[in-house]
Amino acid sequence: MKRNVSLSEISDGKLYGENDMVRADCHGCNGCSACCRGMGASIILDPYDVFRLTSGLGKSLQELIAEDYIELHVVDGVILPNLHMAGEREQCAFLNREGRCSIHELRPGICRLFPLGRYYENGDFRYFLQVGECDAPHSKIKVSKWIDTPNLQRNHAFVVKWHYLLNKVEEFVMAEFMEKHATYEGADKQINMLLLQMFYLKPYASERDFYEQVEERIALFYQAFQS
Ligand code: SF4
Ligand code: SF4
Repeated sequence: MKRNVSLSEISDGKLYGENDMVRADCHGCNGCSACCRGMGASIILDPYDVFRLTSGLGKSLQELIAEDYIELHVVDGVILPNLHMAGEREQCAFLNREGRCSIHELRPGICRLFPLGRYYENGDFRYFLQVGECDAPHSKIKVSKWIDTPNLQRNHAFVVKWHYLLNKVEEFVMAEFMEKHATYEGADKQINMLLLQMFYLKPYASERDFYEQVEERIALFYQAFQS
């Protein structure tokens, strides 16, 4: 979820690259699970998150939605999946009884980043350290080690492309929405359905490289979007 706030209000004022050291390591959280609860619809999943979850758990996105692990929300006019915060305690459905993440190896990108966030500018992004979000004592760790994502360079390139693709879709949807005096139907609905189907619901072949597959889909999506 994008936030239009001043970086100095929410961070230590610095921007970090993947090779930088950052004070983010909370040493296994030590029994805390605060950022796995009460997060509303803010833990949005990108296609790589869904690929990792569906291939790792052997379930389709539709099954994960039916089992209440994931839900769909409209964010800035675009329908996207997010982790479902369930029950009275509004906790992530993947949080186990011991208060630990039951899918640690498969956890989504936003969970891997926290308490870091991404700051986009000039067609790329760097990381910032959110302050006031995690009370645990932190020590320094290399950003790439903290994020713990294989093929990080390729993942970074994909995240950038995905971010700017979503920006274009949001602009289109919001323009359509305003033009039709706030009715959500027609081209804006169609583009949302195409996005959902093409990047989230259509399964990725587990024997093929994810990034190659998503590149092909991005090219096809732009062809359809611009026609
Ligand atoms: S708030 Fe900090 S210490 Fe608590 S679970 Fe999240 S990252 Fe870990
Ligand atoms: S996926 Fe794991 S780390 Fe992420 S919110 Fe759920 S329980 Fe927490």
